[in-house]
Amino acid sequence: MEPRREDQNLAPRVSGKGCNIKFLNLELIFDHMGHFGRLQILLYFMCAYQNVSCGIHYVSTIFMLITPAYTCKPPGEVKRAVFQNVSSWRLEEILTLLSPGQKDHIAVELQDGEIWELSRCSRIWRENMSHLDYEYSGYKHNIPCSDGYVYDQSKWENSVVTRWDLVCDRKWYVDVIQPFIMFGVLLGAIIFAYLSDRPMDTVRIAVIGAGVIGLSTAVCISKLVPGCSITVISDKFTPDTTSDVAAGMLIPHIYPDTPIHTLKQWFRETFDHLSTIACSAEAADAGVHLVSGWQIFRSIPTEEVPFWADVVLGFRKMTEAELKKFPQHVFGQAFTTLKCETSAYLRWLEKRVKESGGLLLTRRVENLWQLQPSFDIVVNCSGLGSQQLAGDSTISPVRGQVLQVQAPWVKHFIRDGSGLTYIYPGASHVTLGGTRQKGDWNLSPDAEISRHIFSRCCALEPSLHRAFIIKEKVGLRPVRPGVRLQKELLAQGGRRLPVVHHYGHGSGGISVHWGSALEATRLVSECVQALRIPSPTSKL
Ligand SMILES: Cc1cc2nc3c(=O)[nH]c(=O)nc-3n(C[C@H](O)[C@H](O)[C@H](O)COP(=O)(O)OP(=O)(O)OC[C@H]3O[C@@H](n4cnc5c(N)ncnc54)[C@H](O)[C@@H]3O)c2cc1C
Repeated sequence: MEPRREDQNLAPRVSGKGCNIKFLNLELIFDHMGHFGRLQILLYFMCAYQNVSCGIHYVSTIFMLITPAYTCKPPGEVKRAVFQNVSSWRLEEILTLLSPGQKDHIAVELQDGEIWELSRCSRIWRENMSHLDYEYSGYKHNIPCSDGYVYDQSKWENSVVTRWDLVCDRKWYVDVIQPFIMFGVLLGAIIFAYLSDRPMDTVRIAVIGAGVIGLSTAVCISKLVPGCSITVISDKFTPDTTSDVAAGMLIPHIYPDTPIHTLKQWFRETFDHLSTIACSAEAADAGVHLVSGWQIFRSIPTEEVPFWADVVLGFRKMTEAELKKFPQHVFGQAFTTLKCETSAYLRWLEKRVKESGGLLLTRRVENLWQLQPSFDIVVNCSGLGSQQLAGDSTISPVRGQVLQVQAPWVKHFIRDGSGLTYIYPGASHVTLGGTRQKGDWNLSPDAEISRHIFSRCCALEPSLHRAFIIKEKVGLRPVRPGVRLQKELLAQGGRRLPVVHHYGHGSGGISVHWGSALEATRLVSECVQALRIPSPTSKL
């Protein structure tokens, strides 16, 4: 049965079989958090110690509830006692001869001459006080056992039974003590397990995808949404994602269905975020740095000053002198922007996810419903994978091929205004691009295309003829008319799974990732709130 979608904007369906996610078992959690180590050994022995003391406590009742031989206490001091044919001056000595369960009595003579027959739970006063015989057929009175009991202390000096006189009509107390303790253990297990879980009422969030969009969203959620546990599930991690192929330049691309003001806000937030990193000690680790250069045009563009001009640094028109370097071009923009060494940046983001307690799982997700009920919320950042995962036919690949070359003398970026040819210097190599092949799924580099890219770039920067090619790379841009940032509620058989879709960043995902991740985090936050305050008319 398919999960029902409570969202009007997406026609296609996810085929859900309603099965649990099988791979999220204990072993995998150990794989990611580390196996049996010193901490676990310490915790094991602490628990073992506690369990041993609990165990002793449970079995202690066997010894503490011992019932020794006993008899009803006479109303005065015993002078002499007789049990069958044995006689003694001390009642305690005779008492040791009694065995539990026997029905015999002890005949005793008290200091005042009264003669009593003492049984376990009753005592009889003999009217005839003339002689102390064991058998007596005269007149007698049955008197209640109101003075307590005398116990055989030869083996056990004390027990719970002797201390509280849990014999005769109070014997049933002994029978219920053990079940009572076990009932207390059961009750404690239920109540305290519940109470200890209450403060850890975490919302389990699965983020699908470990490209720049998935990882940055996971980091944002972990920073901004309290009380969540985050698991990034992806079939590929760095260095095997599209994001790893990206040149990583912060120059926004226009999406027809995403409003410019939204795009500008995402770009500004991304620029500010990466600027802070670039100016920090983290810069090298995160692979983020400032880079200056030119964007050049063969004809005057309709927008001489693009919408993002006031976000990048020092935006200006190129001077005549600068343009002389590019005789084929008539117009140019000079500015300083940021560049991400994407593989380093993805590693850095993965580290942030792990530091915040998140898990990274290498698995392919076949359908979103599969994550129910292991997770409370799913964030779909699967890029091109959403074609199948979200059944979205509006997303398609636009193939891009780039070369990584060794040309350390190239320090300025050069980008043809069409965005097709570019030279982007980075920390360890220069990226030369590129191609835009719509609907092409081929991930193998094409030698002919590489030669073409190289010659186009050499035309812009002739010194590149001396460059040494290190690598050819191919990536499939997840292109869609607009970035999909949207909540959806999957439902099946009374169960629900809130999903936040966050994909379709096409040619400019690096440029806007942080801003759109913040937006996705706001949507996740709304889902978390809806889960915490459940209402029948949830507005998810
Ligand atoms: C050649 C080239 C150059 C580029 N240069 C730039 C640039 O300079 N500046 C810029 O801003 N942008 C650039 N881009 C665009 C940028 O690379 C993308 O916009 C961005 O990488 C998209 O990120 P993503 O996380 O959505 O996708 P991806 O990086 O493709 O990540 C998707 C993730 O989802 C996972 N996944 C998919 N399906 C499933 C599934 N069913 N189960 C589990 N996991 C799944 C994948 O394994 C992957 O980890 C360039 C792209 C290319 C190809």
